[in-house]
Amino acid sequence: MSIKKIGVLTSGGDAPGMNAAVRAVVRTALNKGVEVVGIVGGYTGLINGEIIDFNLRSVSEIIHRGGTVLYSSRCPEFKTEEGIMKAVETCKKHGIDGIVTIGGDGTFRGARDLSLHGVPCVGIPATIDNDISSTDYTIGFDTAMNTVMEMVDRLRDTAQSHARCSVVEVMGRGAGYLALRTGIAVGAVAILVPEVEYNVDEIVEKMIKTREPVKSILSLLLPRASAR
Ligand code: ADP
Ligand code: MG
Repeated sequence: MSIKKIGVLTSGGDAPGMNAAVRAVVRTALNKGVEVVGIVGGYTGLINGEIIDFNLRSVSEIIHRGGTVLYSSRCPEFKTEEGIMKAVETCKKHGIDGIVTIGGDGTFRGARDLSLHGVPCVGIPATIDNDISSTDYTIGFDTAMNTVMEMVDRLRDTAQSHARCSVVEVMGRGAGYLALRTGIAVGAVAILVPEVEYNVDEIVEKMIKTREPVKSILSLLLPRASAR
């Protein structure tokens, strides 16, 4: 089957870089002579037939924006047979031969189901959760990590000034990658992830121990430096 027209959508949690991905899909398809339509609001838009035509300029001025200009949604109806069939109908009605889905693990499950119902889909991994198999990184993960690190660095100033311990919660739902990677990067005392059971008492003990005053290398070396 030759693909003459494709749709592109963003779904699930938004991730930085989704707009760049939309732009790349639209420009690449048009340059290869394939028509592209945007599906507004993820799988909900597909079910309800919210389709817009794209040209080369439709995706101007979006590459640097966060979130997703195509809007996103969580769509429980898409997990049902009726929901998928409505989506298939929309594709038939608009002559959409295939869809590029941009999102996370849920979006990929939806894309698999839609493919099994005769609408071929490809997925672009874009989630700050980094929880998609067969790829080390997903679009948005690195930006999210850097944002968390910047915020924690600021919190650290206050925590240290008051000899307090800060507990930081990050996004990720059932996936602990963001917590784990950022926790390592900022030198967290303990990192709790949903994949690993933990004992609160052990963590509290660790926190108390960490508060014990120690001589850091700065306090040892700074007097020496000023004496030189
Ligand atoms: P993300 O894609 O960021 O992981 P979600 O987990 O909310 O976000 O998934 C996005 C959407 O994908 C859901 O709202 C639903 O419409 C669809 N989806 C998720 N899981 C399935 C599934 N098992 N079958 C069909 N569609 C699904
Ligand atoms: Mg997800």
